[in-house]
Amino acid sequence: MHTVADALMRREEELIALLGQLPVACMLLREADHTVVAVNPAFEALFGWSASRMIGRSYAELPLWSSSRQREDFRRQLLTSGRIQQHETHFQCGDGQTRPCLAYVEQVRIGDQLYQLATAHDMSERSNANQELKQSEAKFAALFIDSPEPYVLFSKRTAKIIEINHRFTQVFGYQSQDVIDRNANEFGFWRYPEKRPAVIDKLMREGCLRNEPVDLVAKDGRVLNCEVSSNFILVGEEWCTLSSFKDVTEQRRIEARVKHQAYHDALTDLPNRLLLHDRLQQYLALSERHGLSCALLFFDLDHFKRVNDSLGHGCGDAVLQEVSRRLQERVRRADTVARLGGDEFVILLTGLSGKPEQIAEQARVSAAELLEVVSAPMQIEGYGLQLSCSIGIALSSEHGNTPEDLLKHADTALYGVKASGRNNIAFFEPQMQVAVSQRLQLETELRNALLEGEFLLHYQPQVDACTQRITGAEALLRWQHPEMGMIGPGTFMPVLEESGMILEAGHWVLEQACDFIARLLDQRLIAADQFCLCVNISPRQFRQASFVAQVAAAIAQKQIPVQCLKLEITESIMIHNISDTVEKMNELRDMGIRFAIDDFGTGYSSLSYLKRLPVDLLKIDQSFIDDCTHDGNDAEIVRAIIAMARSLKMELIAEGVETAEQLAFLKQHGCRTYQGYYFSRAVSEEAFCALLGPPATR
Ligand code: C2E
Ligand code: MG
Ligand code: MG
Repeated sequence: MHTVADALMRREEELIALLGQLPVACMLLREADHTVVAVNPAFEALFGWSASRMIGRSYAELPLWSSSRQREDFRRQLLTSGRIQQHETHFQCGDGQTRPCLAYVEQVRIGDQLYQLATAHDMSERSNANQELKQSEAKFAALFIDSPEPYVLFSKRTAKIIEINHRFTQVFGYQSQDVIDRNANEFGFWRYPEKRPAVIDKLMREGCLRNEPVDLVAKDGRVLNCEVSSNFILVGEEWCTLSSFKDVTEQRRIEARVKHQAYHDALTDLPNRLLLHDRLQQYLALSERHGLSCALLFFDLDHFKRVNDSLGHGCGDAVLQEVSRRLQERVRRADTVARLGGDEFVILLTGLSGKPEQIAEQARVSAAELLEVVSAPMQIEGYGLQLSCSIGIALSSEHGNTPEDLLKHADTALYGVKASGRNNIAFFEPQMQVAVSQRLQLETELRNALLEGEFLLHYQPQVDACTQRITGAEALLRWQHPEMGMIGPGTFMPVLEESGMILEAGHWVLEQACDFIARLLDQRLIAADQFCLCVNISPRQFRQASFVAQVAAAIAQKQIPVQCLKLEITESIMIHNISDTVEKMNELRDMGIRFAIDDFGTGYSSLSYLKRLPVDLLKIDQSFIDDCTHDGNDAEIVRAIIAMARSLKMELIAEGVETAEQLAFLKQHGCRTYQGYYFSRAVSEEAFCALLGPPATR
């Protein structure tokens, strides 16, 4: 027989056994005395309190409460409703920590006895996740607000602005009240609003934007080149677009400048060779389809080097700028004026059409106009200048259909103009190429001549007209060509000058001249105080920084008396960078070197310059001597030069004296020393020594 109490006990045990199986922390309390009847293993595991620590304890004695307030809360709820639903709280654990839980308490009846079944669900993980969410929201807010990049948060649905950060206000000038709850079009944010749909479309399609270039307008109207990057993010319940706007205006400006520099000439800002080539290529491709032609005009200023040499590079640059301005002013907008470097300009005339002769005529007329424009007088830094130019023309309809061919042929045509006297226009002709290749060959051969020692010096005596004694000589360069024989400097000097080989050749001449003086002295053919050798110095050679040292070294090496050497310079040297010239000349003068002005009367020299320079000797140019006996003007000039030299206390030599009459004229007017075929041509060293006569027997 089972008693009621037995039955109750059995039911209670069954319930406890059942709780033991559950994975949720459970505690069973008897309502009558509010004492704990059982806790299950899940409870022990969750809170770290053993069953023995709990069972038999009254409600108030439970170690679970983290505060008396919590305990009272529970009790009040249980008293009023008899149950507790989904109550979030923290319970005290055996290890001293508290654990977040979701607690439930339900009434259970076994027989007529009431129990309370409390369950606790561990909320640690969810609570951690919440914490993380809160933290990441804070992080996001911090990033968004304090980011050094401008950020905007848009509603994805309405495209209206929800939030902007400080940097956005700094960069674009808009405050929150200007933009929040408005879309970008409403406050004129896009410079080209018509481009906006395509960008938004791309964002929708690809889910993000990465450095998409857009031009935006700041509040004060400035246009900023930006790169926008966008992503979709969920903020609360709403999908938003988070966009950052990188201001790349400065970067773009630099890029544009670099690109411009790569395609333009620094001095004139004209397109350079690269850009010309591009445009020419494009035009040629296009014109073929439309039956149009173009002409390429290759310009070269005649004797531009003289401007540089005599007036200095600053003046030369100003001339180039003036020429570029004139050319640009004259051509049509569709045409291109390019500068290839130096004094070389190229004009691409486009849109020519008609029969071949009509096309050629159009090009010729334009070229003639441009020739005239360039040749008009100009005022540069106070100098009145008049330059002529030469133009070579190649036509796409006749002379080639690639940029390379056209450029090459126009250049060849230009060479043709120069060879036949400059200041003119010429169209390309195949035979011109022969001349160009000859010139190239000459350059190669000259290089070789320097290496192989094919150069030599001849010497032309300078004579005292009264005594017929040789008082000096001029060293003149000759080229002993292996096949063509002896060649004079008229043929090769321009090539040496233009190619820069004159520096090496000039140095060689200087050393040879010093060597020659040493030999003459050695052989007692001259006396150190009665003979002087003149050496021609080209402006380029004189301008070399090492020139003074070069002269000093040549003299020291050959151990010759300084007064035996005289340097011939032309008037063009004097005006170029006058202070540097004077400084160099004075340095050399201090060493005892003397100077002669060659070809006097043909350059631009002014008396005031002449007075500043340490010059000892004027050489009257051959052109005045030629005609001084027939031409009153030339006679007058020669007389004036002689008078001037006398008043400046300078020596004088007349160059190119060929006849007895010329000599008589010079003697009559007081010019005693001369140089010319009348006495002797420039001759070899051996012949010159013979002219000097037997060695002195002193
Ligand atoms: P330059 O310095 O004025 O030399 C005088 C030129 O006139 C020489 O010509 C000479 O042979 C020529 N000549 C002399 N007397 C007469 C004459 O009575 N009648 C005629 N018709 N001509 C006469 P060359 O040797 O052909 O030299 C020409 C120019 O080449 C020189 O003119 C000089 O500017 C340059 N040159 C020659 N050698 C050198 C050199 O070593 N270095 C540099 N930089 N230039 C040189
Ligand atoms: Mg000379
Ligand atoms: Mg001369």
